[in-house]
Amino acid sequence: MQLTAQMVKARALELGADAVGIGNIERWEGAPIQQDPRQIMPEARSVIAMAFRVMRGSLRGVEEGTFFSNYSAMGYGGLTYLYMPMTVIGLSRFIEDAGLEAIPYGHQSDWRAVNTVGETTGKSRPVAPGRAEPDVMVHQRIAAYLCGLGEIGFSKMLLTPQFGPRQRVGIIITEAELEPDPIYSGPPLCNRCLACVRECPGKAFDPSKTVKVTLAGHEVEWMDIDCKACDIAFRGAIIDDSVSAEDSYHNFGDGHRSRPGNWSPFYKKPRSLYNTGQAVCGSRGCTRACMISMEARGVVTNKFAKPFRRRKPWSVDWTKPYEPTQQDDIDKSETD
Ligand code: SF4
Ligand code: SF4
Repeated sequence: MQLTAQMVKARALELGADAVGIGNIERWEGAPIQQDPRQIMPEARSVIAMAFRVMRGSLRGVEEGTFFSNYSAMGYGGLTYLYMPMTVIGLSRFIEDAGLEAIPYGHQSDWRAVNTVGETTGKSRPVAPGRAEPDVMVHQRIAAYLCGLGEIGFSKMLLTPQFGPRQRVGIIITEAELEPDPIYSGPPLCNRCLACVRECPGKAFDPSKTVKVTLAGHEVEWMDIDCKACDIAFRGAIIDDSVSAEDSYHNFGDGHRSRPGNWSPFYKKPRSLYNTGQAVCGSRGCTRACMISMEARGVVTNKFAKPFRRRKPWSVDWTKPYEPTQQDDIDKSETD
């Protein structure tokens, strides 16, 4: 069977991807060795990137302040660790049935040899000169850009014309030579409105400092991101070492204690769902605010009858005591 890009894309959509694009491997020329797919498969000819939408409904409960687990489970952990691998593996099987190797690449971050800013962590060594330290971590959002799925926004989130910032990405690295899609050049998706900056509870973005990279000959620029600040705020926490160990919202493993921020209604950080889902902030800036901005500008094709933000955003005033009702059974036990 002669495999074509059209066949691969049709199968990807049948298997559950919401959008699919293909990039030829030459687009990774100049990629850092630790993020270069050719380090994993030297004979790779193509990368296939698929977008899996986060349901707008999965953000509804966080927006209303009443149901937080659905985004972490169905919009994050479950989508990333369950749904996406099934599609990525299914499509890899389709390619391998044509006699061409395909690597189903989901999120295997726990073994990666680079941290969130691309620095090596020194936990492994190359097996031979010229090879990367295991494990290589292909940058999935950049892969999506190089496969033509959309733009990298000023927030460094992948923005697609279908869903804006509201998706996760899975890729396949394959030796199949497939016709590539052009790099996205449609209507601009990010207009630098800075809604992501204003609404990020961790103040993780610094618009005065930017990172510029050249991807397949295109200059792309995004804001400097304080990943540590995001990591803390994402879980709903504010570092506060004056809090007792017993009352600490979450112990970060570095000796710091914390209390809940006004964007978390929880006494303690809730347990992770599907391994890593613990997004108490509900991606308030980088996803919700950005999506609201993009929908208002009419630049996403997944349209809804009603706007997403329907009520005044909530905030928890932790300085005021809460008087529980008799029915409340307050559980302040430490979770993971
Ligand atoms: S919120 Fe505005 S500035 Fe930030 S990524 Fe989205 S469109 Fe760009
Ligand atoms: S996940 Fe939350 S804390 Fe992190 S950048 Fe997005 S809005 Fe900010």
